Amino acid sequence: QAEALARAEQLAAVGRISAQIAHEVRNPLSSIGLNVEMLGDALDRATFPEQDGREAKELLTAVTREVDRLTDVTEQYLRMARPPKPTLVAEDVMEVLGGVLDFSRGELERAGVDVVRDFAPDTPPVLADEGQLRQVLLNLVRNSREAMPDGGRLTVSTRGMEKEVEITVQDTGRGMTEAVRERLFEPFFSTKEGGTGLGLSVSQQILQAHGGTLACQSSSGQGTTFVLRLPRA
Ligand code: ADP
Ligand code: MG
Repeated sequence: QAEALARAEQLAAVGRISAQIAHEVRNPLSSIGLNVEMLGDALDRATFPEQDGREAKELLTAVTREVDRLTDVTEQYLRMARPPKPTLVAEDVMEVLGGVLDFSRGELERAGVDVVRDFAPDTPPVLADEGQLRQVLLNLVRNSREAMPDGGRLTVSTRGMEKEVEITVQDTGRGMTEAVRERLFEPFFSTKEGGTGLGLSVSQQILQAHGGTLACQSSSGQGTTFVLRLPRA
């Protein structure tokens, strides 16, 4: 419950950050537009080189300065939205997954989604930060639910491999086009009204910080499978 609250707060913070980026990006952008326009005029007049050449240079310097500022501001906010370094401990994935599914049961039931747990009984423990792993799994489960507005089936599986543990989260939802699949890990990329577009980019960052991977298989109308791999403890 406390974790759900923490997550809601985190999402709210991320929403505020996005709004702030939009706001901070607006002024430098209009300055860039204005300078580029003036630069065009200056270049038109640059048939008399001496003076006008210098003016064009100054305008270009102003453009570069604003572009640098924009880059700084966006990177600063993106760093804030980035998760902290994980504290890696041996975790039983079936327990963490079970917890996430129990926690999501209400919203899944209301959405008419049946849950199938396909946990290999000998799935070995992983090295993970429990809070961050929960966050990733909650993101995936929530995305799946949102992809199945008329209900469907969510299949969650675990199995041990030589050095890693594989978790799959599979839904029978609307799937996605190739164009969406190419962009889904980009920060702020969302096809949803009011979506933050941060769930998957943050999830991928978390997996990478764990030395793991997050991959997606999907096509339009065929449902979606996310495959998560984490190092064994
Ligand atoms: P958000 O959920 O806020 O849109 P995410 O980063 O979680 O942001 O997801 C990005 C996009 O990837 C979604 O807007 C959606 O288009 C697509 N997507 C993610 N998961 C699924 C899924 N299970 N089925 C279909 N599309 C998905
Ligand atoms: Mg999401």
